[in-house]
Amino acid sequence: MADGVPASAAQALALGIVDDVTADDLLAAARAKALELAGSGTRRQARDLDRQLQPGDREAFEQAAAEALKRNPDLPNIAALAEVVRATFTETFEAGLALERARFIALVADDRSKALRYAFFAERETARVPGLAKDTARRQIHRAAVIGAGTMGAGIAMCFANAGIPVTVIETGDELLARGLDRIAGTYAASVKRGSLSAEDEARRLSLVAGQVGLEAAADADVVVEAAFEDMDLKRQIFGTLDRVAKPGAILATNTSYLDVDQIAASTGRPGDVLGLHFFSPANVMRLLEVVRGKATAPDVLATALDLGKRLGKVPVVVGVCRGFVGNRMLARRTREAERLLIEGALPHEVDAALTGFGFRMGPFAVSDLAGLDIAWRNRKSLGQTAPVADALCEAGRLGQKAGRGYYLYPEGARGGVRDPEVEALLQQVSARLGVTRRPIPAEEIVERLVYPMVNEGARILEEGIAARPGDIDVIWINGYGWPAWRGGPMRYADQVGLKTVAARL
Ligand code: NAD
Repeated sequence: MADGVPASAAQALALGIVDDVTADDLLAAARAKALELAGSGTRRQARDLDRQLQPGDREAFEQAAAEALKRNPDLPNIAALAEVVRATFTETFEAGLALERARFIALVADDRSKALRYAFFAERETARVPGLAKDTARRQIHRAAVIGAGTMGAGIAMCFANAGIPVTVIETGDELLARGLDRIAGTYAASVKRGSLSAEDEARRLSLVAGQVGLEAAADADVVVEAAFEDMDLKRQIFGTLDRVAKPGAILATNTSYLDVDQIAASTGRPGDVLGLHFFSPANVMRLLEVVRGKATAPDVLATALDLGKRLGKVPVVVGVCRGFVGNRMLARRTREAERLLIEGALPHEVDAALTGFGFRMGPFAVSDLAGLDIAWRNRKSLGQTAPVADALCEAGRLGQKAGRGYYLYPEGARGGVRDPEVEALLQQVSARLGVTRRPIPAEEIVERLVYPMVNEGARILEEGIAARPGDIDVIWINGYGWPAWRGGPMRYADQVGLKTVAARL
């Protein structure tokens, strides 16, 4: 109950939640069961279950409840669950029912519950794509190829293997290929060691992954996902070659984070077959999949990609072409503002704490340190942009966790980053150099300044038709960027705060 994980029919039968499970004619089976129960002479009621409690049940419950509460100290539903189940041991059945009802009514009216229900339906709504008929024909996907076996390529290949789809990983050389395949094997091995994957499943998945050097290996794939370096010339060159080698009707997808999918499509003679499949890192874990619809993308290609996303266990959301699509485009607004907060007087841990206080698992600077500061640095340089704090950190070799230092210091053996006086001195210098008098910035202002510019960008995204609905944007942020689901996503949050307030504060 605390996890909200549904029980399968077989599990429900074993738990005594249901009387019978049938794979045959439901009506006939139900009738037979009803007659059987009616003729048995005993009346079975849920309330009789409390007579079946075994010694030790109470202790086992208390232990499980304590663990669940420790994991979720702020969730009112977990506390209510513990209280209501505990009543099983201490109260009459009727009193227990009354308590359960009272707690349920209070919880269902809670804003967090409303937001979670909103998110649930918003996710389902993403499947309805404007301009895409439900009965659009689908292409067959039996085989996949992934170009590039780096961070993303390896993860994407695993997505296919996990879904039972044979996949060929393609690299430019034997050594790079071997490294990529090792990365895949290593990730599976770690899952087996952790106990989340059986040795048989590991073997089956590995048997579905092949590796080859050279793009000719994409010839028999029904879908090709390109995950090579983020470089337009390279991607255009790869798609030009794919145009020659891929079989007719193959779906040609790019995992680009920012680049123009239409421009990539134009390097082929079959732009209708091209679209973006933007996976998130780690690709084998993250549920979000931005499906980037190019101006030429054929309806059956889009429909097939959405089905494929579901098959891969993802939450596919259709977005249009623009720099960074929906998620990264909005994130860029937050990133810019986070940098400004540091210059004006906030410290990294204050900014991060404000955002974790809001409900994110990690703040923006802890995330930067984890991902590495160099990717964004290179990106800024290529665009001629600067960020005085982030640039100074990079120039000082503070590239994040992998360097042992970034916005925070990562001493050996410490869990996570710690404050670093050197960074705080650097901030003083940057502010002084820019003529900014530093001031303490309250958490409330930090949250407003990180969230509202994102909301504003979301509004522009809607205006431009890059996303079909506010709900699609919310689904993207909940599933790809750690937005707390109980706050319903940035667009719903803005509605809750009130658009007048958001506009005034902006
Ligand atoms: P990476 O550097 O880890 O991997 C790229 C791989 O592509 C390298 O192993 C390289 O050898 C290989 N490669 C380059 N040219 C090739 C070619 N012609 N044929 C075959 N292989 C080739 O990069 P990454 O982080 O995996 O990113 C790949 C793509 O995914 C980029 O477009 C990036 O923007 C995008 N992306 C990255 C992330 C992320 O968090 N890293 C998230 C979403 C999307």
